[in-house]
This record gives sequence, structure tokens and C-alpha cells, in this order.
Amino acid sequence: MIGVDEAYRIIQENVSALPPRTVGIKEAAGYCLAEDVVSDIDMPPYEKSAMDGYAVIAEDAVPGAELEMIENIAAGYVPTKTVRRGQVSKIMTGASVPPGADSVIKVEETEALGTGRVRLLKEVKWGANICITGEDFKACDIVLKEGKELRPQEIGVLAMVGAKRVKVFSTPRLGIISTGDELVGINKKPRAGQIRDSNSYSLYAQAVQTRAHVELLGSARDKKIEILSLLKKGLRRDIVLLTGGVSVGEYDIVVDVLQEAGVEIFFHKVALRPGKPIVFGRSKQTLVFGLPGNPVATYVNFELFVRPTIRRMMGFEDENAQRMVIKAELEVDIARKRTRREYRPACLRMDSGRFYVAPVEWHGSADLLGATRGNSLLILPEDKNPLSSGDEVDVMVTGEF
Ligand code: AMP
Ligand code: MG
Repeated sequence: MIGVDEAYRIIQENVSALPPRTVGIKEAAGYCLAEDVVSDIDMPPYEKSAMDGYAVIAEDAVPGAELEMIENIAAGYVPTKTVRRGQVSKIMTGASVPPGADSVIKVEETEALGTGRVRLLKEVKWGANICITGEDFKACDIVLKEGKELRPQEIGVLAMVGAKRVKVFSTPRLGIISTGDELVGINKKPRAGQIRDSNSYSLYAQAVQTRAHVELLGSARDKKIEILSLLKKGLRRDIVLLTGGVSVGEYDIVVDVLQEAGVEIFFHKVALRPGKPIVFGRSKQTLVFGLPGNPVATYVNFELFVRPTIRRMMGFEDENAQRMVIKAELEVDIARKRTRREYRPACLRMDSGRFYVAPVEWHGSADLLGATRGNSLLILPEDKNPLSSGDEVDVMVTGEF
């Protein structure tokens, strides 16, 4: 049986970025940039006041000085007067600093005298409260590089440089198939021996969060022709996820069906808990994951293997494709029967700048409600057992905490 890292490596060898496409700026959040973006302007585009106050010559700014106010400059207007010794112009945040002035004194540090004069209460340093033209970036600078994730702050930068449309890597089309004679739709009350198909929906939610185009292709009973018929639809997409039917039970026929459909199998089973029976294969351009049916196994397998695959297809480099793993201090003792790599739903918290982690109450790979108590996956390594309170452990951050 291969280990988690080897499985990850094999999957990533089979992944490449999808072709780029152009999207509008409002659609672009979450995508990976497929081109360098160049600015058409300096930012700021003009000497800009960072404060509401008075544009002044620093040498004139001595406490008690009374100066003549010659103009009132609002944001969006061009100053018309040059500030000379003994003069100031009133100026608003974001307005253009008038010629002659070299500093802005905050309004709180002045006293208006009426009669068009103002008294300064403090001195001001040369250049104070002025943003210099081009100090953030200059015209023709590359502001965002290919490969960058477009978060809200990058979207704002696109807007600053007038990039209304932008080239991004495409997101994969992904199909989800559940298998199992015991499954019923979520609108039905399960009868004896039946269970609602929750995996389709948890996987759908995980995949949608990555921005993949996801479709639930349906639920097949443990019959070759039913699985095959849904699989055929799936193979028209970039990724197919199947759940159930990959263990060693008598009706676990998914691997046979995949092989019959011409899917080349790269591995079946990874030394991992939960989620050991995972299958990975490929048919032409479509990557196929057969995930075990237990809901937490499915969830963990997606986080470990499928999410990074989607993100690599979306153009992200490996380090941005994977979930973040951080070091934390274990808060309890943990002894295990086996030393397989294990991922346990856990609660990660921060206290005085240090991370602490403890497993949440959880009854094993079927207990999805248990997993809702956590905000992370505590990684129990294959080479250390038992673990003691105070040990440093790795934790995969699966969301906000
Ligand atoms: P399997 O991988 O088919 O052996 O299934 C393992 C366990 O997961 C069984 O208890 C199944 O009932 C359960 N299971 C399989 N598929 C689903 C699903 N789509 N939603 C919820 N539970 C499932
Ligand atoms: Mg089954």
C-alpha cells in the first residue's frame, strides 16, 4: 500500500493547468491569473493629500503662525493657485496638492480664524501627509503576475489599472456520482437498511467552494450497468468523483467498472485513516477518483487529494493548491492501535500567539456530525505513537477558525 505523500505525487503528475479564458472583473474573484497585468497609470496618479487639512510650506509651519488661506481644494478638482510663503490652501483627503506646498498639516492641528486666515498649532515635517505620485506603482509596472490568486484586494488592483477583463485559467468541470443499493434521495425518509445520500451534497459543497463547475450526475445502485451509464457522462468532464463501492465487500464493484470503461488505475488504497480504499485513475483527459462511501472518509479524501487537483487545474502552484498545514501544540494524550497516517477532526485555537489543537468528539469515519465540531484536521503521523499532551503536531487548516 502506498503512503499519502506518494499518492499525492502520483495524482499531481497527472494534472496540468486548464487553458486560459477571459472573464469580466466581477466574475474573476477566486481564479488564478493567466497573464501579467500592467498598469496604465501611476498610483497615486498625482501628489495626493492623505488628510483633511491645509497644504503648506513646511518652513512656514511653526506653532502660532497665522497664514492666509488662498483656496479650498476638494477631491476631484485641480488646484488653481500656487501656495507661496505665508499662505495655505485648505485641502481634503484625496485632493491634489497645489504647486508650491510641500506638506499638509492636519485640520486638528490648526485653528480657523475666520477672516480667511488660519493659525497653526504645531509644526509639520517636510512632505508630511502627502502621497507621492507613483509611490505605490508606476505606469507600465507589472502590478499582478501570472499565477496570482485573485482575492478581493487583487480585484481592486485590477480596477485601479482599468483591467475590466482579465485572462484566468479555467476551472474544471466536475461530475459527482454516488453508488450504493442502500442510498435514497434526500427528499425520502430512509426505510429499513437505507441511508440518505449525503456524500453527493458534501462533495458538491466542497467542490463549489473551489469554483469548479460541479454537477450531481446521480446515484447508481451497485449494478455495473447503472454505474457505467453515469460514469460515461462523468468521463466527458475534467474530473469524476464516485463515492462508495471501493472497499473489499462483495458488492464493491466500482474498480471493475472503471477498468471496463477503460480507466487506467494508478492506485487503489492509500495508507490513511479515514479513507484508505481511495482509487485514482485516468481516462484520456479525465481524472477519476473513487472515494470510499463513509462520509468523513469522502470529506477527508477530497481535502487531501481532490481539492489540490482542482486548484492545480485552475493554474495554482503546488504550495497554493494544498490546504495550509501548521504546527500546533497537542492538548491531550493520544494512543492508537495502528500507526497509519491519520486525519482526525479537531479544534484548532490560538492563545497568546501559540496554536493549540485537540481532537473533537467523533465516532469514526461515518460520523459526519462529529466532523462539524472541528475546524481542522489533526494529522497523526505514521512514525510516532503514542502522542502526548504538549507534543508538537501538524494540523491541516480546512477553513476559517
Ligand atoms: P462503501 O464504501 O460502499 O462500502 O460504503 C461505506 C459506508 O458508507 C456504508 O455504510 C455506506 O452506507 C455509506 N455510504 C456510501 N455511500 C454514501 C453516500 N453517498 N452518502 C452517505 N453514506 C454513504
Ligand atoms: Mg457500498
